[in-house]
Amino acid sequence: MLEQRAMLIMTLRGQGVRDTSVLNALEVTPRDAFVPQALRQHAYDNVSLPIAHGQTISQPYVVARMTEELELTGRERVLEIGTGSGYQAAVLSYLSRRVYSIERLRPLLVEADRRLSQLKITNYTSKLADGALGWPEAAPFDRIILTCAAADHPRTLLEQLKPGGIMIAPVDVEGGHQAICKYRKDTDGQITTDQLFDVKFVPLVTDNPTTDIADT
Ligand code: SAH
Repeated sequence: MLEQRAMLIMTLRGQGVRDTSVLNALEVTPRDAFVPQALRQHAYDNVSLPIAHGQTISQPYVVARMTEELELTGRERVLEIGTGSGYQAAVLSYLSRRVYSIERLRPLLVEADRRLSQLKITNYTSKLADGALGWPEAAPFDRIILTCAAADHPRTLLEQLKPGGIMIAPVDVEGGHQAICKYRKDTDGQITTDQLFDVKFVPLVTDNPTTDIADT
């Protein structure tokens, strides 16, 4: 497994992932602990894999690129929407001060929490909720990452981002495809948006469709 992990890191380097702290975080995170038993032999393939309840663990390349774009220094409080297997949260825990992660499917969250505690990760907090609403009690955040695709710019979440903060999210964009969008909030609260690269994520399923995403 360790050899496969090292091979994956070389592949990611070859694909242009440059940030050594991100590569190190992926190297120390045992992805095999986050995939279903039957798929363990594929844990270090550079592909997304199915997890329970029709959800997926993202492709390592996408995890690495999105994490890189968060520009973490180790001091940030990060909000993640879509805990899923817990893999992305584990990667983030090595690169930030504290990770807050929200999942709407209880069985996935229970498993993810168990995995992170087995890895002795202590700077992780999670809750079962609709992530579209963010985590107002813990806001504002230095960084926000969505690992499920929003139908539109996630405005409620942007409100929970600190001035100077960055949010990375897959968003349905024009032309019927999904792209990773990078949002920066400047010190005056102005938002700038960059569209980075195309992806395919499971949707953000919001149980409160009127309170988020709707155009205001
Ligand atoms: N970050 C995960 C990938 C998860 S797949 C990993 O590393 O494995 C996307 C996850 O988003 C799924 O588990 C799905 O249940 C969750 N999700 C979708 N809509 C959500 C919402 N509104 N709130 C919280 N989680 C949501």
